[in-house]
Amino acid sequence: MRSHLLNDTTAEHYRRSVTEGIERVAAKLATTSRPFTGVTVDALSPRIEEIDLDKPLHDTAAVLDELEDVYLRDAVYFHHPRYLAHLNCPVVIPAVLGEAILSAVNSSLDTWDQSAGGTLIERKLVDWTTARIGLGENADGVFTSGGTQSNLQALLLAREEAKPGRVGREAADSFAKLRIFASEVSHFSVKKSAKLLGLSQDSVVSIPVGADKRMQTVALARELERCKQDGLVPMAVVATAGTTDFGSIDPLPEIAELCGQYGVWMHVDAAYGCGLLASVKYRGRIDGIERADSVTVDYHKSFFQPVSSSAVLVRDAATLRHATYHAEYLNPRRMVQERIPNQVDKSLQTTRRFDALKLWMTLRVMGADGIGQLFDEVCDLAVEGWKLLAADPRFDVVVEPTLSTLVFRCIPAAVTDPAEIDRANLYARKALFASGDAVVAGTKVGGRHYLKFTLLNPETTVDDMAAVLDLIAGHAEQYLGESLERAS
Ligand SMILES: *Cc1c(COP(=O)(O)O)cnc(C)c1O
Repeated sequence: MRSHLLNDTTAEHYRRSVTEGIERVAAKLATTSRPFTGVTVDALSPRIEEIDLDKPLHDTAAVLDELEDVYLRDAVYFHHPRYLAHLNCPVVIPAVLGEAILSAVNSSLDTWDQSAGGTLIERKLVDWTTARIGLGENADGVFTSGGTQSNLQALLLAREEAKPGRVGREAADSFAKLRIFASEVSHFSVKKSAKLLGLSQDSVVSIPVGADKRMQTVALARELERCKQDGLVPMAVVATAGTTDFGSIDPLPEIAELCGQYGVWMHVDAAYGCGLLASVKYRGRIDGIERADSVTVDYHKSFFQPVSSSAVLVRDAATLRHATYHAEYLNPRRMVQERIPNQVDKSLQTTRRFDALKLWMTLRVMGADGIGQLFDEVCDLAVEGWKLLAADPRFDVVVEPTLSTLVFRCIPAAVTDPAEIDRANLYARKALFASGDAVVAGTKVGGRHYLKFTLLNPETTVDDMAAVLDLIAGHAEQYLGESLERAS
């Protein structure tokens, strides 16, 4: 069994095994003609169920054959130009190379003595990102597992900063008074974080958005004022720079003004919109982000990085102390005086992947402009898609894209019942997924069911979008045809 341990004597086995795996994936990528096979849960479960984990095959090739059956054949492939569903990007090769290296070396970024250079590389990427944002000289941050964790950590810091002095009571009581303001289309991790942070059930105040799906700052001002009048404590405003549903960007400068006026922590959730930090053409769309107290970025969404790769950045490095705990066996307090860089002092995690290496490899091989150009391309593609939809009488499209998302629904001719239109769209999405020809997402707008393209693949063309729209319209028509038959 020792032959399976990666060490000086097993280099050849390592090389062969990993190469075999890479060959399979490369062959797969070369031959996938659809983003998905359309496999059902019922068809796939027994194949996985019947495998006896207590009976190993002892043979890598055999395991890879089996993997073809239980995973590779039916996986959902984000690199395919007709995968248009969620915020999943095709990944860039330098990052995949980074992934292979980081898991083989297996550094853990919690302490210097488990990482060395990895720690400094991560710190340099944090500095690179805060400089791109414009957070100033005292900025800092740390890589996280994803936007959800980044938002949680940012709100933890905001909570701790809001507490002292401003609420001179017991913690439990003061938590009840804290309020977070986020738009009605902000990410649900804001509410989850509030719960985890022990805030009250009504701690997240939902601010309405306009037709453009951006937070209405007049409403925000009103709610902040009301909060003050009611003797409550505004803890944070979460501005979303790229909403998950629409890609809309809240008016950051106006929100920054209000945060300054009311002394509230400004968090910018740029999990999606962070791609603009590298943009060659559209950086201006997130102007105002530099005024944030904290920022969430998901490199695994708009920097074409493999899952996971995310970071939380803060204007004032000192605020990260709210996540600092010392353990004698790991990061004793004296190490701070000795200036030993232990990233665990800034993180919610302890053992932590060296995800930063993927971004490092990407920037060193392609450069930031390379990433930014790819993201600009998908933003441009979304504008083309918008034109296509706006000109097509079969569809109703919700909002002009700021990033790379299109929300629309099929409105078949001669159908006026909105509930029937809902059902036709739900059916079309399911039927499309079952066919495997394309994958699209769905959401609700004004209580009605809509469909969504999240465009993150520069290889997707206008023709791809047109073809998928035809498929959707076809499925919707089919549903309505069958529905008529059922009725008669
Ligand atoms: C995706 C997303 C998140 C959550 O990020 P994960 O990496 O999925 O945890 C948070 N906020 C916004 C706006 C997002 O789009």
